[in-house]
Amino acid sequence: MQFGDLAEVFDRLEKTSSRLEMTDILAEFFRNVKPEEIRKTIYLSVGRLHPDFVPLELGMADKLVLKAIASVSGRRSEEVEDLWTKTGDPGEVAEMLIAKKKQMTLFSEPLSFQNVIEGLTAIENASGKDSQDKKMKLLARMLHDSSPLEARYLCRIVTGRMRVGAGTMTAMDALASAFASKEDRPDIERAFNITCDMGLVAETLASGGLDAVKGIEVSVGNPVKVMLAERLRSLPEIMERLGGKCAFEYKYDGIRVQAHIKKGPGGFVKLFSRRLEDLTSNFPDIGEALLRQLKGREAIVEGECVAYDPDTGTLQPFQNVTHRRKKHGMEKAVEDIPVRIFLFDMLYCNGEDYTLKPYSFRRMRLESSFKDDDSERYDRIGYTSRAIIDSDEKAQKFFDGAIAARCEGIMAKSLSEDSVYRAGSRGFLWIKYKKDYTQALVDSFDLTVVGAFYGMGKRAGKYGALLMAAYDPDTGRFGTACKLGTGFDDAFLDAMPGLLEKYRCETKPASLDAEMVPDVWFIPGVVLEVTAADISLSPIHTIAYGTVKEDAGLGLRFPRFTGRVRDDKTPEQCTTASEIVEFYRMQEDRDNGDVE
Ligand code: AMP
Repeated sequence: MQFGDLAEVFDRLEKTSSRLEMTDILAEFFRNVKPEEIRKTIYLSVGRLHPDFVPLELGMADKLVLKAIASVSGRRSEEVEDLWTKTGDPGEVAEMLIAKKKQMTLFSEPLSFQNVIEGLTAIENASGKDSQDKKMKLLARMLHDSSPLEARYLCRIVTGRMRVGAGTMTAMDALASAFASKEDRPDIERAFNITCDMGLVAETLASGGLDAVKGIEVSVGNPVKVMLAERLRSLPEIMERLGGKCAFEYKYDGIRVQAHIKKGPGGFVKLFSRRLEDLTSNFPDIGEALLRQLKGREAIVEGECVAYDPDTGTLQPFQNVTHRRKKHGMEKAVEDIPVRIFLFDMLYCNGEDYTLKPYSFRRMRLESSFKDDDSERYDRIGYTSRAIIDSDEKAQKFFDGAIAARCEGIMAKSLSEDSVYRAGSRGFLWIKYKKDYTQALVDSFDLTVVGAFYGMGKRAGKYGALLMAAYDPDTGRFGTACKLGTGFDDAFLDAMPGLLEKYRCETKPASLDAEMVPDVWFIPGVVLEVTAADISLSPIHTIAYGTVKEDAGLGLRFPRFTGRVRDDKTPEQCTTASEIVEFYRMQEDRDNGDVE
């Protein structure tokens, strides 16, 4: 395959906002290329050479790319920078200048896909004192042989600016259409949810068919998409929904960690956040304890890391554990902030995939998998407090105990035979109930930034307000939920442009439905925690559009930023459309006096 073929596909995808059309374009392309090329294409479509959880990035700075463009096009660097200031996109600059250059020179080799992969791999691996110069030259070499369109995508790939609009959902539809059928889509989706590697799933499907995909299993080192909980408005409702008997666990307020542990030669421990970031270096003490105390050979377990006072055994507020997410001063943070992991699930053990086993089985195995540690000041591994609950009274008592122990609330878990670990989905097998639900104000929402409005007055020259969106997993689309302009302190207002820059895009993101038009668009990336006075029907906001009322969406009233950037959540793990509808209904009931 030539790189030009792929550049053309990217261009066609970018020009349409119809998901169906994108699916057709991709399916046709997948049918015509080799399985390993499909795999790399999937990574390249988001500007990477590996799946998301591999922490290697091409990450070339814009200025370095501009230097390469100047050297290939023979333009002065001021001229190149000038164009960059106007467009904000090195891809566009390269396209314009290479187009002009091409009119003058016709000597270049066609750029093969393989050459591009090799060139990008060399860029990624360049290290040492002169690594920046090496990267610049490697890019310049590829730009020399590229067409204007190829240059656009090369520069976007290396600067992390790929925005072709076709997300994972569309890729899965296209794979099903190219190599299987619509009915097989759930098998493809499960394989992705347990490996987090769409490239692997695509290559397996293209080369071995659906049976090979069905054979994909959880494996140590590949994160599994986390299972999420639904929420209900009262404890009796939860009891009823779970058949009158279920397990309750404390809901700890910390950082969720999925630990992959392998002992022996070639062994390792890797800790992933729910966003699939590698958190191993943030919790070295927890990683070591898990490796030391695991009885078996290998395992995948999940738990919540919470700041903890070893002398009194009391849990510390969420803010304390966030110091462990810092980039610098980690050694000191490890010493100053003792952390304990409260384990709640086991997804894999000694070669056996547990994700399709019921909750009670997983929990039983979990509790017998780690040794106690008496040699240290305190045991870093614990299990979430838990009880089997079969009445509303016991439910209330357990909830009160959780709050007294400084937890956020409880997690109710189904005891039924089909209570599998539903990787990547939110469902009623787990139901959360938090202290906030009992208060007049609704709970906080995690929303993603999709736009910004320039500020005025004191905020001139900065962003003054943000357009925030929630996610609808049923459609795979985002919808706006509010314009947020309150709760920002000066430090956050200053930091905001930097935080958002890498998500900036020229037009409305393809996965977003929006009526309101901000000054700047962002693809969903940054998640902020927001509170609101209530939720109302909205003629302008698009989340849950048509669900409560035919021609209206739902909007948050008097939204306020809590100061918490939820960098542990992906935009798809934001508050969902159905949760917002649930809040709206909860509030209607409260207003009607139906909820105590
Ligand atoms: P939320 O972030 O409000 O959607 O609540 C779900 C989160 O609660 C999970 O992602 C975990 O980080 C956290 N959590 C705390 N305790 C538990 C528990 N016992 N079982 C499952 N999740 C828990």
